[in-house]
Amino acid sequence: MLDVAIVGGGPVGLCLASLLAAHGITVAVFEQRPSNGTHTRAIGIHPPGLAVLDTIGAAEPLLARGIRIQHGRAIAQGRTVAGIDFALADPTRPYVLAVPQPVTQSVLEERLEQLAPGALHRGSRITAAHSYADEARLTGTVGGKTLAVRSRFLVGADGARSTVRRQLGIPTRAFSYPDHYLMGDFPADGLGEDTALLYLSSDGIVESFPLPHGIRRWVARMPGPVAQPSADHLAGIIEARTGVVVSAGEHSMLSSFGVRAQLAGSMVQGRAALIGDAAHEISPIGGLGMNLGWLDAAALAPIIATALAGGTVGAQLDVFERSRMAAARRAMGHSALNMTLGRPAPETVLRARNSLIGAVLRHPAAQTAVAKRFTMTQH
Ligand SMILES: Cc1cc2nc3c(=O)[nH]c(=O)nc-3n(C[C@H](O)[C@H](O)[C@H](O)COP(=O)(O)OP(=O)(O)OC[C@H]3O[C@@H](n4cnc5c(N)ncnc54)[C@H](O)[C@@H]3O)c2cc1C
Repeated sequence: MLDVAIVGGGPVGLCLASLLAAHGITVAVFEQRPSNGTHTRAIGIHPPGLAVLDTIGAAEPLLARGIRIQHGRAIAQGRTVAGIDFALADPTRPYVLAVPQPVTQSVLEERLEQLAPGALHRGSRITAAHSYADEARLTGTVGGKTLAVRSRFLVGADGARSTVRRQLGIPTRAFSYPDHYLMGDFPADGLGEDTALLYLSSDGIVESFPLPHGIRRWVARMPGPVAQPSADHLAGIIEARTGVVVSAGEHSMLSSFGVRAQLAGSMVQGRAALIGDAAHEISPIGGLGMNLGWLDAAALAPIIATALAGGTVGAQLDVFERSRMAAARRAMGHSALNMTLGRPAPETVLRARNSLIGAVLRHPAAQTAVAKRFTMTQH
């Protein structure tokens, strides 16, 4: 009988496992993938997420492997419309740390192995989950054999298509958006290492974020789904909308995505809880999902510790669910606003809107508010 079984060894499940192990709790993580993937999704680690990672000793290794984005700049027709300094949001951590998600996951995996050797069970696919009055049960497969697990608590950190959520019969509310994006990593070629650039174009936004090793991630808003992403296509869009020439032949990652969002009807059911994308999938535009999941984990870990020590936690779980769902809704609103501002618009509308944004952001209070939104300091 385990104290806690976690389904999903993504960034959120790994983080929760380390937080629990640091409380002396016996924990196991069941992850279907045999190894850490190489596909980069999340790149931005915000100050509140970094503070959570600090408590499990993962912040320092990530700081050593990432780069610090200290400023954001919005550009239209070659001119700066507004600039934001992230130090306004959190002077102790005046940056968003940029690290490719596979690196973040491998650091979290290393930390978990140090705190709870053998706790991550790779190649273990969970197919059924049940929460009973005094225990939770999982079944699945590992290496062609049946896997059966009993635990006092169960956490589903198994992503947007969560099996645990479906097995527990928790419904979701889905939100659809008309937005599609083409994304690729190219050599930065002198664009600098500390500034995120947002190019506001009448054909749709192009975003550019610095990454370690002289790379930049480019994300362009597209008029519709892109079935077959091509580096030449993305390079052409970047040049047409921003004037920047990137080397298509030297791209290191390329993908396209449409935007989905969904909220689970509840995050807690009996002895089970959902966290991360299993509980709330947020549009990638705004870069909040992974950080939101770490904050879920940080809120849930002490409640589980109290419950395992024999405490009554019903009221704390209510607060956990309400506050974390409210944070997810705020993050969804933030992403929705970002997507709206990035949609195509007639040149005249765009000019008027950019002058307004520029005028508002000349006020220090507005600058601080925007810096807080972009660095998640208010979540
Ligand atoms: C293009 C893009 C860019 C993004 N950028 C950012 C960003 O900059 N910052 C940010 O904070 N967020 C960002 N996000 C969101 C971020 O990637 C997700 O929010 C984050 O990965 C969620 O972590 P998770 O651990 O909850 O779920 P996941 O990362 O989906 O991990 C779930 C894990 O569960 C495993 N699993 C699933 N089902 C089972 C099963 N039945 N049995 C066993 N294992 C199972 C999966 O294999 C997976 O490893 C971005 C997303 C995209 C698509």
